[in-house]
Amino acid sequence: MVSVVIVEDEQRIRELVARVLAEKGYEVRGASTALDGLQTIVGFAPDLVILDMGLPDLDGAELLKMIRAVTSVPVIVATARSDERDVITTLEAGADDYLIKPFSVEQLVARVGAVLRRTAPAPSPGRVLSVGGLVVDPVSREASVDGRPLRLSPKEFDLLAYLAGRAGEVVTKREILAEVWREPYGGSEKTVDVHLSWLRRKLGESAADSRYLHTVFGVGVKLTEPPA
Ligand code: CA
Repeated sequence: MVSVVIVEDEQRIRELVARVLAEKGYEVRGASTALDGLQTIVGFAPDLVILDMGLPDLDGAELLKMIRAVTSVPVIVATARSDERDVITTLEAGADDYLIKPFSVEQLVARVGAVLRRTAPAPSPGRVLSVGGLVVDPVSREASVDGRPLRLSPKEFDLLAYLAGRAGEVVTKREILAEVWREPYGGSEKTVDVHLSWLRRKLGESAADSRYLHTVFGVGVKLTEPPA
């Protein structure tokens, strides 16, 4: 079971987040002070930490430094400070992502999932991905559809390999920018759209007549096996 520690002194927020994450299947521990938080993180060795920056005993940034001294656990910082410089300082101090308060629980759950995926160990290289007639080999960087080799640019290949690795899941353009373009906080979704349309053409399909690449309106894109 994936485990999460939330360090948050506001009981209402702590309990709400704990309840929502528990409903999603996470094992959650709460802590209301920085020192209790550090002890819980060291003792419990969670897969992810959600850290409030305004704690009664220590500043969250100080706690983040202490956490980073002992573990590389992914940390999502929750802060009421929306100043861009504060956010950059926080990320440079070793946070993996941040949430500006007040945040919705849906946003929190999405960020938790995204950070866990991003920080998960890479799938073992050499694993050839095959979805229907589509075959993607990340080692030789060759891809084919129904036995026909695809001539892809490096980015098109990376995009196809990423989507094939998550076949059946809806993937947001923001995730694609983070994972394929390595721009978790920047980049343009237009770039993704353009590469998706190039990829579609090479796969011999179009947005209107899709086989492998399906647009999920307002959410993202999904690669699936075409119906027989
Ligand atoms: Ca607080």
